[in-house]
Amino acid sequence: MNPPAAPVGPRPPGPSGPRLRVDVFTIFPPLVENYCAGSLLGRARHLGLLDLRIHDLRSAATDPRRSVDDTPFGGGAGMVLAPGPIFGAVELASPPRPLLLLAPGGRRLEQPVVEELVATGSSPSGGFSLLCGRYEGVDQRVSDHLVDGELSIGDYVLAGGEAAAIVVVEAVTRLLPGVMGNADSAAEESFGAGLLEYPQYTRPAEFRGWEVPEVLRTGDHGAIARWRRAMALRRTQDRRPDLLASRGGLSEEERHLVDDLADDLADGRTDGGPDGRTDGGPADDPADGDRVS
Ligand code: SAM
Repeated sequence: MNPPAAPVGPRPPGPSGPRLRVDVFTIFPPLVENYCAGSLLGRARHLGLLDLRIHDLRSAATDPRRSVDDTPFGGGAGMVLAPGPIFGAVELASPPRPLLLLAPGGRRLEQPVVEELVATGSSPSGGFSLLCGRYEGVDQRVSDHLVDGELSIGDYVLAGGEAAAIVVVEAVTRLLPGVMGNADSAAEESFGAGLLEYPQYTRPAEFRGWEVPEVLRTGDHGAIARWRRAMALRRTQDRRPDLLASRGGLSEEERHLVDDLADDLADGRTDGGPDGRTDGGPADDPADGDRVS
């Protein structure tokens, strides 16, 4: 048997220790490593907030060619990832649990699931792990006897689990304390409070004749907050009524906000501001946060 390859790309813990460990098992470590080296994920790793360890499934392959797949019993197209290398790689790494197999038929990844995964950082295992399939999929015994569950990123079929793993890791990492510059960012975003986010604008205040809503340029933070909340409610009502239904619909106060906004729009006050219309004023600095993306 070949000696096990070292996991690709672990980073040393930061001064306060890593906040979340995530182990990813894949036959293409560079695919995951390259994406997770830059931008927000790279920064989170550099700061020691995310301890991401990427393991090569071939590390436990026992034949000279380090094969990880074989033809399906019963015939049919394509190849199937064999159980031996997968069990071997996982047992060598003893990764944090839950260990989740990425699979189109798994539990759907939605923001509450992302929050559950963030919470594994404070569990005894200190995180969670992801197993990427390839080809026609993975031998059923991996699902039955090795992993703790299956996770899907949507009702479509990818060529492999690596892109799905990246989606999971990025969605989770954004919620780790200290990763995004502005602590309010995650709470205000789509799905943060069961709503879609309000529309965002930056400079210039007018672009090809399309103006930024006036209320956003007034510097009146109360009016801006009301406008944003009304827009988030209206947008959710229009595009994702299922989200509103699952939080019990609109409260009395929310209905007023949305009605006021509709009245303003009907009156041609396209700043859309429930109580947000003013005579204008100096443009507020649109860069009112320091997000890292
Ligand atoms: N034959 C499988 C089927 O019909 O369900 C699809 C296999 S797919 C080509 C190869 C691998 O990509 C899967 O084993 C899984 O790890 C990953 N994958 C594909 N679609 C996915 C999705 N929507 N969510 C998560 N992983 C996915």
